[in-house]
Amino acid sequence: MGLYRIYLAALLFGFSSWASAGPKLYVFDCGSAQLDDLAMFNIKPGESDVRELFVPCYLVRHDEGILFWDGGLPKSAVGAEPADAAAGPTMRYDRWVIDQLADMGLEPADITYAAYSHLHFDHAGAANELVENTVIMQRAEWDNAFGEGREFVDTSLYDGLKQADLKLIDGDYDVFGDGSVRLIYTPGHTPGHQSLLVMLENTGPVALSGDLYHTRANRALRRVPTFNYDAEQTLASMDKMEKLLSETGATLWIEHDKALADTLKKVPAYYD
Ligand SMILES: [Zn+2]
Repeated sequence: MGLYRIYLAALLFGFSSWASAGPKLYVFDCGSAQLDDLAMFNIKPGESDVRELFVPCYLVRHDEGILFWDGGLPKSAVGAEPADAAAGPTMRYDRWVIDQLADMGLEPADITYAAYSHLHFDHAGAANELVENTVIMQRAEWDNAFGEGREFVDTSLYDGLKQADLKLIDGDYDVFGDGSVRLIYTPGHTPGHQSLLVMLENTGPVALSGDLYHTRANRALRRVPTFNYDAEQTLASMDKMEKLLSETGATLWIEHDKALADTLKKVPAYYD
């Protein structure tokens, strides 16, 4: 009798934990960029030896749908010849993210939601390919998306969003309504910059930085890049993120952190 009850409990527990499986987080290699120094990020040569930035894309699978987060480098960077140093950062991008999705058996139409930390060219590369889904965007980012004089923006990468189903938000947003996947409003780098918090059951909570921080040195030294839209707002967003990390116990993944990226599982492997 006792053994039977234990067996039954194990069955029920096993079933219920399967039925309420939490989100799965997938990491894509969407390129990298070589830099001569980190001056644009307000880091002096002796303060960091980082000279390469990883460029990721991510996918979150949830029982209620799929969220695609950050669009990587433009397709034009795939297989491109290394530029000469005078022309700017040298880009590498091995396999277009839409092809990587196809490797997983996914088409753009299978994606429920797309969201971007911001619309700089290294985060919006695939934006025009993902317009059949709902695009969740901070209103402040969209209001400034086609304005004059913005650096690191190529509007041709995301002008297709004008025809997309846009869900404009003002602040933090619970994507699937159960608290497991949350957009965190962290403006300053751009007018409507946001980060992403994913509550993973086995890995533990993970926060994806967007470009709130570009390198570990930016976080350790609380250093705002020279080209940010609003320095004060950036510092306030850093405070907000650090508070959230200590409250939730989340691990921060700095998206451009190449050393971190080298240690992460890439698709088709995932974190749950
Ligand atoms: Zn970036």
